[in-house]
Amino acid sequence: SNHSAASDASCSRANFYNLLPAREDHGKCKSRFEQHRYGKRDWEYVPSEYLIDRLRTYEEFHARCTRGNRQTWFNSSTATENSDCKFILWLGNSGLGNKMVSIAATFLYALLSRRVLLIDPAEDMEALFCEPFPRSSWFAPRDVPLEFLRSDEFRISFDKCHPGTAKFSRHAYIEIMNGYDSIGDKFFCEKQQQNISDQFPWLTITTNLYFVPSLYYVPSFRTELDKLFPRQEAAVFQHLVKYLFHPSNAAWDRATRFYDTYMAGSSKLVGVQMRVLPNFQDLSRRAQNFSDAMVQCLLQSKLLPDVSVASNLSASGKIIGVVVASLDEQYFDGLREIYVSSPTVDGSLVRVFAPSKERWQQTNDRNHDEKALADMLLLSFCAELVTSPGSTFGYAAQGLGGVKPWLLNEKTCSKLDSTEPCFHAKVFYGCNCHSSSEAKSVQNNARSCPDVPWGLQTS
Ligand code: GDP
Repeated sequence: SNHSAASDASCSRANFYNLLPAREDHGKCKSRFEQHRYGKRDWEYVPSEYLIDRLRTYEEFHARCTRGNRQTWFNSSTATENSDCKFILWLGNSGLGNKMVSIAATFLYALLSRRVLLIDPAEDMEALFCEPFPRSSWFAPRDVPLEFLRSDEFRISFDKCHPGTAKFSRHAYIEIMNGYDSIGDKFFCEKQQQNISDQFPWLTITTNLYFVPSLYYVPSFRTELDKLFPRQEAAVFQHLVKYLFHPSNAAWDRATRFYDTYMAGSSKLVGVQMRVLPNFQDLSRRAQNFSDAMVQCLLQSKLLPDVSVASNLSASGKIIGVVVASLDEQYFDGLREIYVSSPTVDGSLVRVFAPSKERWQQTNDRNHDEKALADMLLLSFCAELVTSPGSTFGYAAQGLGGVKPWLLNEKTCSKLDSTEPCFHAKVFYGCNCHSSSEAKSVQNNARSCPDVPWGLQTS
């Protein structure tokens, strides 16, 4: 009947075409069941059967490898039941957007390298997100000796073209952080990956980057990636985000309450994420220019109507909602002033909101992070999104919403053709000792990012 077809469709939307495992605990994590009611109705990218299979297998693997006395499985993976369990422990030390993009990348690496992903429990993630894997936890035990695990003696170094470390250890450590330079670190190479897999049941990674584009460099990973994400436009990130990041009830309630109160009645919603990063000197030196560029972008792209000097225009009844997320209030103030001081040419009303006023970054402050996540969610509920170059905060919002953003630069503003984040790293590459000629051939699979010229993006 029609009724059951409709409820099937809404059921499919609710679990994103079986991307999410079946769950019963509705109250514990409302976002999982309510997410499909906000933001985009249609999901352009249906997950592949292969991805769904791999996720269900992963969930079993994760539950089995983390079962029982947590101390025991951490200290030894030689117990018969767990002999095939290998782990990767994620440690982060940056803002929320950086955490989300790097956890997504680390999870994909875990899938490809058949490891169990564990998250540093000290990172306030418990308060922000629900557990993604059923019947188990993705948090490392609280007594894992983090400082010990990330000490230099475990650091993998491939500098001399020899794979692996010389140490007789079961544990290795790697950093993929801002400024990461792939020359001299052959982590994304077949032979080295094989070696890491054979030698180290424990791998610890400190990362704040979306290193997925470089996973495509490892031939065996690439074969698997093409099966997991078979379409031309892979949309890897939005699948990972939809699978991994379900806001806790506190963050979800904050976002949806704001939405229901201020945004729900709008005929169109536009999200604007304004962040000026130190690497983008031209913008930060002239923040006022960035504000002007924002207004230009919104008008030229027809996301918002222009204003008029005439006073006899009749109202159209149309309301456009604009969410401005930023640590700097001037963008919100400037935009609202434009629309309260003059009527719009088409008679619509433009409501400008700023859901939070945090002013500065306070990473790992629970209340601050909850507001940051709520801001990301509210941006992701908007049909159109404008983001700032290089900001992982914006990447997280575009991933949560599955929205291809308009990228704001000082002079230009254009709609991107992908929701994939940029890997902020130098892209020269070579897996053997003669890196420069090899580097050229391997770069064909990827392109430089529209927002960060020195970065790498999956095409
Ligand atoms: P990135 O530095 O832009 O790559 O993004 P991150 O999310 O990693 O770090 C920026 C941090 O600053 C966020 O996690 C927030 O704590 C804070 N922040 C930046 N922009 C905003 C914003 O628009 N709203 C709120 N609430 N916090 C923000």
